[in-house]
Amino acid sequence: MKRILVSGGAGFIGSHLCTRLIKEGHYVTCLDNFFTGSQDNIKHLMNEPNFELVEHDVTFPFFAEVDEIYNLACPASPIHYQYDPIQTTKTSVLGTFNMLGLAKKVNAKMLQASTSEVYGDPAIHPQPENYWGNVNPIGYRSCYDEGKRCAETLCMDYFRQNKVRVKIIRIFNTYGPRMLPNDGRVVSNFITQALKNEDITIYGDGRQTRSFQYIDDLVEGMVRMMNTEDDFTGPVNIGNTHEFSMLELAEKVIQLVGSVSKIVFKPLPHDDPRQRQPDITLAKEKLGWQPTIELEEGLLRMTEYFKQI
Ligand code: NAD
Ligand code: UDP
Repeated sequence: MKRILVSGGAGFIGSHLCTRLIKEGHYVTCLDNFFTGSQDNIKHLMNEPNFELVEHDVTFPFFAEVDEIYNLACPASPIHYQYDPIQTTKTSVLGTFNMLGLAKKVNAKMLQASTSEVYGDPAIHPQPENYWGNVNPIGYRSCYDEGKRCAETLCMDYFRQNKVRVKIIRIFNTYGPRMLPNDGRVVSNFITQALKNEDITIYGDGRQTRSFQYIDDLVEGMVRMMNTEDDFTGPVNIGNTHEFSMLELAEKVIQLVGSVSKIVFKPLPHDDPRQRQPDITLAKEKLGWQPTIELEEGLLRMTEYFKQI
C-alpha cells in the first residue's frame, strides 16, 4: 500500500484517479480548495477508511508523509481558468512549486498533469513531445498555458537540481462523467444542449479540430506513467489520436442523442487553437499505452451520465 496525495482530487479527472487508487488498495489524501471541484465528485469515497479529504489551496505549502504525488490542482476549462487568471497562474506555478517542495522533503515521486496547451496554436501537426509550441505569452489563455509551461520547467529543474523523481504527462482534451454540465468545455456543452434540444453553440466556423480522450484511458495512462523507471521524466503525450472538427462533433452528438437541436455559430474565443492531435509514439513505447475507448462509445456513456444527474 502506497500513501498517495492527489491535488485537485475533487475535480473531474482527480475524482476518477482517486477512485482508481483506492480500488488498488492505496491510502489516498485528496487535496482540493473546491474552486471547480466538489464534495459530490468524491462522495462515494468518503466512507472508505483509506480515503482522506483535506480542504487546502495549493498556492500555500502543505505537508504530509507520502510516497507519490499526483499534481492536478488547476482549473482546466477556459471559462474557469480565465475567471481569475492571476490565481490560475499562482495555482500552476506556486502550487507546483509547493508540491515539488513536498516531494523533495519526503522523497516522493511526483506526476505533473501538464497539458496539450503547452503547444499553443501548434504549427506542427500532430504534436510530438519535442515540439516546443506556439504560445501567446500575453493573451487570455496565457495564464493557463504559460502557467503549465512554467510548472514543467520547475519539474525539470527539481529533477536536475534536487534529484526529485518527476513524471510529466501532457493531457489532451479529456471528457467523461463528473464533468459539470456548466463546465463550459465543448463535449459537456454539446451533450447538455442536445439533451435539452437547445441550440448547439459552435464557436467560430467549427473547422477547428480537437482529439478527444475518454477519462478511463487517461487514468490508465497516468498510473502507468507513475510506475515508469525513476529517471524517466517524460514529458509524454496522453491522448486519443482520432481528430474531429467541432462541426463533426456537433453532428455526432445530435445523432447519438437523437436531438432536434440546431447548430448556431458564436464568435471564436481569443487564441483558440486551430488544430490539435497527439503523437503518442512515446506513450506506446514507454508505457505500453494507447487509448481503447473511441468517441462514439465515450459520448454514449457521457450522455447516460448527464441524463441521470
Ligand atoms: P477540474 O477543474 O475538474 O479539476 C481541477 C481541480 O483542482 C478542482 O477540483 C479544483 O477545485 C482544484 N483546484 C483548483 N485550484 C486549486 C488550488 N489553488 N488549490 C487546490 N485545488 C485547486 O479540471 P480537470 O479537467 O479535472 O483537470 C485536472 C488537471 O488536469 C488540471 O491540472 C488540468 O490542467 C489538467 N488537464 C485537463 C485536461 C482535460 O481535458 N480535462 C486536459 C489537459 C490537462
Ligand atoms: N467550443 C465550441 N462550443 C462550445 C464550447 C467550445 O465550439 O460550446 C470550441 C472551442 O472554441 C474550441 C473547442 O470547442 O475550439 C474545444 O474547446 P474546449 O474549451 O472544450 O477545450 P480547449 O479549447 O481548451 O481545447
